[in-house]
Amino acid sequence: MKLETIKKLCCPFDKAELTLTSITKDVDGNVIEGFLSCQDCKRLFPIIKGIPIMNPDEYREFKLEQPLLDRWQKSGHRLGGGGE
Ligand SMILES: [Zn+2]
Repeated sequence: MKLETIKKLCCPFDKAELTLTSITKDVDGNVIEGFLSCQDCKRLFPIIKGIPIMNPDEYREFKLEQPLLDRWQKSGHRLGGGGE
């Protein structure tokens, strides 16, 4: 997904602005893997294979998201915007 497109996205729950964290980009600078995090409700929306996963909570596939979250944390990063 293109960076400009991602920047236009807002949180589907409260329409707040999202912060992009990119993990993997392709040669054109498109985000392949990463996260969008909401400032407001602190939800995290993974970007997997270039597609932001922004389903309502009950339709989210944590099986799909978990490997990405695990890799991110193992590489020494911390999730979310503010403390644990
Ligand atoms: Zn939100």
